[in-house]
Amino acid sequence: MKATKHIIMAITAIGLAACTSQTGGNTQETTDFEYANERFADLQMLRYKVEGFENLTLNQKLLIYHLSEAAMYGRDILYDQNGRYNLTIRQMLENIYTNEGVDHTSDDFKAMEVYLKRVWFSNGIHHHYGSEKFVPEFSEEWLRQQIEATDALAESPYSTDEICQVIFDPTVMPKRVNLAEGVDLLKTSASNYYDGVTQKEAEDFYLAQKEKGDKEHLVMYGMNSRLVKMPDGSIVEKRWTTSGLYAPALQKIVEHIKLARPYAEDEQQQKVIDKLIEYYETGDLETFDQYSILWVENTEPLVDFVNGFIECYGDPLGLKCSWESIVNFKDLEATKRTECLSKNAQWFEDNSPVDARFKKENVKGISAKVITAAILGGDLYPSTAIGINLPNSDWVRKEHGSKSVTIGNLTDAYNKAAGNGMKQEFCLSEQEVELINKYGDTTDDLHTDLHECLGHGSGKLLPGVDGDSLKAYGSTIEEARADLFGLYYVADPKLVELGLTPNLEAYKAQYYSYMMNGLMTQLVRIQPGNNIEEAHMRNRSLIAHWCYEQGKADKVVEMVKREGKTYVKINDYEALRNLFGQLLAEIQRIKSTGDYKAAQALVETYGVKVDPELHQEILKRYKALDLAPYKGFINPRYTLVTDKEGNPTDVTIDYTEGYAEQMLRYSSEYHTLPLANN
Ligand code: ZN
Repeated sequence: MKATKHIIMAITAIGLAACTSQTGGNTQETTDFEYANERFADLQMLRYKVEGFENLTLNQKLLIYHLSEAAMYGRDILYDQNGRYNLTIRQMLENIYTNEGVDHTSDDFKAMEVYLKRVWFSNGIHHHYGSEKFVPEFSEEWLRQQIEATDALAESPYSTDEICQVIFDPTVMPKRVNLAEGVDLLKTSASNYYDGVTQKEAEDFYLAQKEKGDKEHLVMYGMNSRLVKMPDGSIVEKRWTTSGLYAPALQKIVEHIKLARPYAEDEQQQKVIDKLIEYYETGDLETFDQYSILWVENTEPLVDFVNGFIECYGDPLGLKCSWESIVNFKDLEATKRTECLSKNAQWFEDNSPVDARFKKENVKGISAKVITAAILGGDLYPSTAIGINLPNSDWVRKEHGSKSVTIGNLTDAYNKAAGNGMKQEFCLSEQEVELINKYGDTTDDLHTDLHECLGHGSGKLLPGVDGDSLKAYGSTIEEARADLFGLYYVADPKLVELGLTPNLEAYKAQYYSYMMNGLMTQLVRIQPGNNIEEAHMRNRSLIAHWCYEQGKADKVVEMVKREGKTYVKINDYEALRNLFGQLLAEIQRIKSTGDYKAAQALVETYGVKVDPELHQEILKRYKALDLAPYKGFINPRYTLVTDKEGNPTDVTIDYTEGYAEQMLRYSSEYHTLPLANN
């Protein structure tokens, strides 16, 4: 019962995003915007810019405003879903944190502050990614004193002893989600989706439901409820509805979705909203599927949103969905870019260096959709996905398709916040750093667009060739094909002509960062002693090493050593482009003819192996940079502006709120649930 991965997480371990499979956002330079904010534990807080918000119509702004309010009101739900003590612990810690009588300078206080910031980040006391319980670095004795002195547990349904045990005893609730086989996964997971039932009982319960259900249109049983064993031994679902469990939060959400409704962009979007309200009120799963169909087919409006119980990673059985919300609007600039490429798809196909036999006579480009996030809530906040592919229902996806989007402004924020650390350490000289700072974002986005919109769709198989004939090497070869298509064309004068690159120099930024990544920096994501496994990484290594070796005699690309450190040096960018073109032609030949042997030789020779000495050097240099492995976002703050009669005249956006400030405000303004929810 493993969940399929429907979200794309950013690769945040590497500060320099050279060619990931994400479409970037608006690349206009925003100079004085502060992307990187505070850092603590293994976390780095970022801000994202809602580019284009000011240019929206008043109705669109009001739609976003009310949907954002609805997104905030679900915050408590996730805390309770993640563990039944979380709301109490959050309130207790905030009580101590904001109490003026407490000594804010002691080491215990400072350690508690970090702990609280981690609780906010994870929406609970377990790590958002690894799901292990945090180890507090303040003493239990100190905490007990503060609880006593500030009456921090005044409203708590639990005793001080119980709370201290949950925080300090490593054997109590050690993991939020336990996936290790051999034990009862429900008993060993701290998440709050089951109460008193064994794994076997839960599995049987849902199996019986499935067997009775409509096989062709199977609803997602169990997705919106807690499964509870009653005192009489019966097992019942407590559904999350406006009259059931989590009612106070869901009522608030519905209230604000209703306020958004008059500003919906078309009739279909109003139907989406009506269906969502009906679902929140009834908890009926068929209604949820109907809502999903309306939502997936509503593609016209600029503004769109997700608000509901969506992803099931928090449930070891993969049934129960955590609450999340995102409000967004289409990035018209980025979408224009992909449309421009799509329109010219045939020109790119006709002019590629590939053998004419392998070209498509009629090629159609894909317009990848890029969106701008306006607010993040629930399980998308502060840690978030950079791409979304929904709905999750298998039958709805099969019959009605899905919406697949990349969130441009979040990717952009990751890139901008990465700063110069990686570049300063690994680029050959200031000249390359400058080149990448100047053109890196633009050409990176373009490379991704070329890869996604044209690369994967280009070329054809010869008649009779089986698409799976490259077997295990298939996905590496396919990614290499799309990447090479992008690399070859990002340097083409045609892009300047189309207004997509500013000049004939810009592509060099992409070439340099691609080669540096493929030859060196992507190794930071590989454990010492391991080879490269992941298809995208193998492809980058393959391309970089093949070009390096083939151009060696002419010194097209060199690896130079300076004070014990290795650097990539590109001597001849034009020759490098020719090499990319040659390899593209060869890779397309391999794909079109299904030449397994050649695919194997290329991948095994250039894509898999790691030079252990270089690897060690890279890891050491990376470690010294001391970058935070996980990142999350502070939301912007929206304010409704009204005239004397109380009619809305504008919505303003502000980016100055601090992390703790925002969390404390959310806890007071959007606190909806009691501390214990049964
Ligand atoms: Zn791809």
